[in-house]
Parts: sequence; structure tokens; C-alpha cells
Amino acid sequence: MDEPNTDDWSGGSAWERIDPDTARLIHLLYVPTMFCNLGCRYCYLGDLTRDAQGFSEDCAKALPTLRFAVEKLLENNVLPFNISLHGGEVTTLPPEILEQLFRFITDYYRAAGPLLEKGGFRKKHPHVKTNLYNFHKLYDLFDRYGVSVSGSVDLPLSLHGRERVTRAGKSSLDRILKNIALLAAYPHDKKISATVFEPHFHKRAELAEDIRMLHRRGFDMNRFNFMFGFASQRNRGCGGGEGPEPVRALSGEQQVAFYNYFMDAFGGTELDRGVNGAWFEEFTPKYCTNSVNCGEKFFLLQGDGNVYSCVRGQGSSAFHYGNIYEDSVSHILREGRRKISLAHKTVGIHDDCLACDFLDTCRTGCPFVKHEGKKGKSYTCRLQKALYAKSPERYPLPGTDRERAERRAGYLSAMHPNLLYKEENRIPEENRVILPNDLYDEKNSLTNIIGADKILEKLYAADGFIITVDGRPHALQSQILKPVREIYHLYPDQEVQLHARPDLFTAHCDEPVRNTLCIQMLRDTKVTYGDEKRTKQEHLFTHEVFHRCLEKSDFRQDWIMLPLSPLLACHGGLFLPSAANNMFVTTGFLRKYHYQKQRDNAFYHIQAINLPFQNFEFYWD
Ligand code: SF4
Ligand code: SF4
Repeated sequence: MDEPNTDDWSGGSAWERIDPDTARLIHLLYVPTMFCNLGCRYCYLGDLTRDAQGFSEDCAKALPTLRFAVEKLLENNVLPFNISLHGGEVTTLPPEILEQLFRFITDYYRAAGPLLEKGGFRKKHPHVKTNLYNFHKLYDLFDRYGVSVSGSVDLPLSLHGRERVTRAGKSSLDRILKNIALLAAYPHDKKISATVFEPHFHKRAELAEDIRMLHRRGFDMNRFNFMFGFASQRNRGCGGGEGPEPVRALSGEQQVAFYNYFMDAFGGTELDRGVNGAWFEEFTPKYCTNSVNCGEKFFLLQGDGNVYSCVRGQGSSAFHYGNIYEDSVSHILREGRRKISLAHKTVGIHDDCLACDFLDTCRTGCPFVKHEGKKGKSYTCRLQKALYAKSPERYPLPGTDRERAERRAGYLSAMHPNLLYKEENRIPEENRVILPNDLYDEKNSLTNIIGADKILEKLYAADGFIITVDGRPHALQSQILKPVREIYHLYPDQEVQLHARPDLFTAHCDEPVRNTLCIQMLRDTKVTYGDEKRTKQEHLFTHEVFHRCLEKSDFRQDWIMLPLSPLLACHGGLFLPSAANNMFVTTGFLRKYHYQKQRDNAFYHIQAINLPFQNFEFYWD
């Protein structure tokens, strides 16, 4: 094993193989040790966290394995957009090992910054999931690296006292309460989460009271989220258990009753933002559980080099993708895709999902939980449907039978193509769309059309517009070219600015004085109109500012800038709490060029039928 290298990490030649246009962006969890200092009865990892025998080896491998893996990924054109530390319990590692990891991750984000920004990601600081038991000892170290902290606690606290015990059987509650108070004053990103099983459900009034108490004591409980426990082969507590009562997962009815209880208790209070947002966000399409195939994007690396799907799949051969020391990156990527696909196919798809109007939103849930429970649908199905029903602007029902069939076919063709041949799943023959065969010629692909046209290259530039939010930059990409949809949260007291590269104003325009910065604001509430009767996002407003009226940017030399905060505040009444807003930016002449190109080139028109400009989606909180 290599000696840990504590010099600044730059990646050296590993970056040479990264092609910014084709790099595969992945989410990487790193588990340097499986050991945990607590022994919770319902832990999804079961006995895997008890083994302290290999701990000194874990310490020795912690940094070398991560460094080896990241360099090997980069050499294979794979770019982690997020490296988070998870357990076991990461904070059981000695502080000097933790510091090596923090330093490496910080160096990585620094070196990868421009590439990640291009892909719409902005990361600077390490992230740690922790049970908070050691937080007081590590506070200064975390502070020095700006570590973002996700603390896992048990609520109500009476259950924490009973269930979250040290290896010596002592309650961890007193120390955790002190550390939550410390976390409240911690000046970096932070949140806490709690997992709910049946005993928590039965004590929901007490749980609600504890949330209020923690909020009163200074921890902003809008930064909190619930998770629902599930039965797995490892957490023997579910349905059995050794404690005073069996620890069972909630039924679907209980999940909905739990959600309604908290909506009633906290809607309209100062925790309204939490209960209507982060608390139940894990069950909305923002999470891995709603991927078509999560094995394409989410990976967990252990200190011993083994790669699994995620924290849930750790230790399960069906979710093991290989070992970074022994297998090629292409093998690991292939296995990820194959094993997740196999897990979905093996349990099959539930009849409820086949008939469900939200199949293309939900995508039937987490393959690991389905695999463990031998069920063909999401274990939080009922709750998800309640959330969808509450926000019809965000989760619209299909407007016609044809739209329903198309939406269903979209998911089935990706995961269960054999079912498309079943009569009831076919899109009716008379509704078949006829496309010219040469649409699929290589020269007619959108990227090739853009590559052959200097003005379109500027129109689609991924480094032409940057939005800063309180100084933090987000590079804007074309809506139709970006690999993932990101939705941000903006608050009225934040300073938001739009910065633009000056040469965009001379693209297709001889006199920049006649050109404008053009902003189109849409909202994710649907309207149907036009000759095609397409259902699209609703237009809220268009705003244009002439080139000479724009300010000098402080963020990039020679760039120009428009302050956005006053514009957003002035239209704040149009931004709904439950609907994302979609802001497109371009120049007046580039916009004209896009429509001219649509008229001139049918292959361009058909692929750029949705607005192609750089965009920024946000909720206005
Ligand atoms: S197996 Fe489940 S929890 Fe793990 S990445 Fe996939 S969807 Fe997420
Ligand atoms: S919401 Fe429920 S029925 Fe609909 S697709 Fe998801 S798991 Fe299936």
C-alpha cells in the first residue's frame, strides 16, 4: 500500500484523458471504514458496522484508495461531480486521516472546478454524513475545511435515547443534544435527518414536539429531512427485532398519515418551508430513487476498493459492481448499468405501475428496496402519489390517452422493452409519428449541426453566461444539451447577478449597440396552445436590456453584468411555492438566429423544438 501523499493533489496527467464534452459525470460516495461507534438496532447495514478488527487497515487505505480511484476514473474520462464521505461512521477515523481526506477532496474540487462548472456543478467543500457523536472533537477541523455536515439522529429523542446506544450499551442522547447545539452555530452547510419506522410513527406527536424544541433552541429545522426505513435482510429488527418492540417499516397508509399529520402541524408555521420542501423531498423526483437506471450515475466506493450501488446496496452481491483495484472502469460502469437493470427486471413491474399516470416520474422506485422486499413497485408509492396530487402544476396528469401511452412507453422502452409489444402498452398505430430516415444520419445530429455553424456554437456555449448567487457562480448550459436537470432555491435576500461574455453580443450582429441581453421567464405550470396543441411550460415575462445599458462585471474581467435581484423581486408574485421557474438567457440577435436556423434546417428544427437557450431553474422561497 502507498504511503499517504499529503502534498497538494493536482491529478497531473490523469486529466489528459478527460474530454469535457463527453466525460461521464458520476456521484461518488466514499466509505473509508465500515466501523461505527454506535450500534442502532435497525441499522440497514446490520452487523457490517461492528467489525473493528480491520480498522487500522482502514486507516492506512483511506486516502490511497480514494486517490487511486479518482485518478483511475479520470483516466477513463469519468468525472465525479460529487465526492461525499459516508459510513460506517467516518468520524471514527483519526483526525489526521480525516484531514488527509478533506484536503484531497478540496484539492480535487479545485482542480475539477472549471469542468464541473461547465457541467452545471459547483462544489468546493467535502461533505460528511455522520451520527454527530464525535462532532465536538472535530469541530475545528470541519470548520477549517468548510465541511458540509449531514447529521443523522433519531426522533423523537426518547427513541434516540433508547435505540442509539454506544457499543458499550450507553445512551448517546446527552452528547448528541450538545452536538446539535454546536451544529446550530456551525457556519457552513448543515442539515439533520431522521429515519422513521413504526415506533416513530406511533410517537409522532412527541416527534413533532421535539422538532419544535430543536428549532426553538437554535437549529433551523427547515434544514431537516425524513427518511422511511424499510425491511432488508440486514436490519433484522424489521418485522422481528431484539428490542422492546419489533421495528417494522411503515405501511403505505401509515406513511401518508404521517405526512398529513406533519403538514397539518407545521403548514403555515415558521417551519412551513421545511414541511413543504426538504422534509419530504426524498420522495420527489430529485433523488436517485427516481432514476431510470441509478447504476449509470451513483456509485459507492469502499476503502477496500469494492464498488457498490450506494449505501443501501453495500455488502449485497447483487449490487456489487466490482473492485477498483482489480477491475477496469468500463467493467464497473457496465456492471452498474447491468445489475440495476437486472434488479428491476427480476422483480418485474407491478400492475399498479403499468396503469400509473406517474410512471415516467416515479420509475417504480429504488431497485434495492424492491429487490429486498420482492416487490415490483416503490415502497413509498402511496406517499409519492399524495405528493404528486398536492402539486398538480409540478406533476401534471397526462392530458390525453395518447400522452398517457407515450409517457408509459418512454419508461417501458428503457427498462422493460418486452412489455411494449403487449397490446395494451402500444401507442395506437394511427398515432405513430413518421420521421424521415436520414434524421438519424450522423451529420444531422444536433451536436454536429452546432459544430458546423460558428454562430450556433456561440448560441449553445456552455461558458457564455454565469449566474452568481451571493457570489457563488453557476455556469449556464443549453437546456436541451445539459446532462442533468438542476433546480436551485433562491431567496429574496440573496444577491443574484447575470454575467455575460462580451463576444456573444457580436455574434450575428455587426452593431452591438442594437443588441440586447434577452431573458425569458417560464414557470413549470403547463399550458396547451398553438397549432400543435403542445403542452408546455407557461411564459411569465420577457425582459430585454440593450447592450450599452449593461454594467461592468466584477466577477469576470471584460464581461458585462445585469443585476437580477430587482427583476426577480419585482415579479416575485408570479413565482409559485410549488412550481419551479425556468429562466432562459441569450442575446436578441442569437434568438433571431435560432428561429432563422429553424426555418432553414428541418433537422435542426426538429431537435431544437424546445427552447435551446442556456437556462437556470429555481424555486423562489
Ligand atoms: S439502489 Fe436505490 S438508494 Fe441505491 S442508488 Fe439506486 S435508487 Fe438510490
Ligand atoms: S407512484 Fe406507485 S404505482 Fe406509480 S409508478 Fe410509482 S410505484 Fe408505481
